[in-house]
Amino acid sequence: MTTGYVFHPEYLWHDTGTSAGLLPAHPLAGVQPAVHIENPEAKRRIHELIYASGLIHELSIIEPRRATEAELLRVHTSEHIRRLKTQSALRGGGDAGDGFSPVGYGSYDIARLAAGGLIELVTAVAEGDITNGYALTRPPGHHATADTGMGFCLINNIAVAARHAQTELGLARIAVVDWDAHHGNGTQSIFYTDPSVLTISLHQANSFPPDSGQIRDNGVGAGAGYAINVPLPAGSGHATYLYAMTNIVIPALDRYEPDLILLANGYDANVFDPMARQMLTADTYRQMTSLLKHAAERLCHGRLVAAHEGGYSPFYVPYCALAFLEELADTTTHITDPLAAIVAGYAAEPSLFHQRAAVDEATQLLRRINPPDTATHRRHPTVKAAGNA
Ligand code: ZN
Repeated sequence: MTTGYVFHPEYLWHDTGTSAGLLPAHPLAGVQPAVHIENPEAKRRIHELIYASGLIHELSIIEPRRATEAELLRVHTSEHIRRLKTQSALRGGGDAGDGFSPVGYGSYDIARLAAGGLIELVTAVAEGDITNGYALTRPPGHHATADTGMGFCLINNIAVAARHAQTELGLARIAVVDWDAHHGNGTQSIFYTDPSVLTISLHQANSFPPDSGQIRDNGVGAGAGYAINVPLPAGSGHATYLYAMTNIVIPALDRYEPDLILLANGYDANVFDPMARQMLTADTYRQMTSLLKHAAERLCHGRLVAAHEGGYSPFYVPYCALAFLEELADTTTHITDPLAAIVAGYAAEPSLFHQRAAVDEATQLLRRINPPDTATHRRHPTVKAAGNA
């Protein structure tokens, strides 16, 4: 088993400017310039910890390339691509569409490098060069819809990679699991009428975007039943997330029988995160990854490809990422979560009644997922299986 890793220094050069957290600085409104919450720091520290821990020596480095415009147009409108180019050409930077998604000078080409990095990783998995992988990309993608950037996201990297996998790699059924603390609205909207991509989002209820990702939002038309949302109450922790993984995410994957699992891998449900109010620890990410990895091994030759999304605690996110990546690569390093003793109480917190009830309510969605039509569905028609014996 080999785990691929995608990174490029340019990912850290995406300039999100001087916003105060997420508010664009505005002197007349009294918003003082500061540092945008989606800045390089957490990502830089993850990358450095992957090297400092020695984990890098057990990974297969996959070089990113810039996605072509044609690859982006499989998912995004030409108007959105034109906007990104225009905003990216401004010396002072611009915005990707919602007023909260900074586009730095030249960021369009960095966003293409992020989407292309994920394309290369999915390709390496499909061709059997590696079993699974992690793209530590930036800017993030899961809030971007077909026609606009949103929530710090410019291009929906996962959607672009999913369409590439279907169009070029012969992988027919794709499952997208999104455990970022916020709703994976962009990915969901792109595939809302399409049963060939199952989207499953665990997120903090009523966070971002507002009123998005309710249980009733379940896909329409041919895609009815193929958007799964599990809005978890604020304060949900280790036990509730594992309960949701065990009772919703894994059974949904088992019913769907995907050819590839993509993971929108945000760490902002961690207990120290400033952008959400969930209580996950590094060990939670390790255990959730174990469940997902074993599902991928059972269902699709281990094909599990993760794209980095949110995660805004620079001091804690790297340990969550290391736990995730160690588990993905089926190894451990000498680095353990130095905050484990501090967060042990959070992890020990039992799942509360209203938290379990939110998960239980979503189990009604499982029966709407149908397995592949065995008469027409040729499993893995053009690719060789990754070695997962
Ligand atoms: Zn998020």
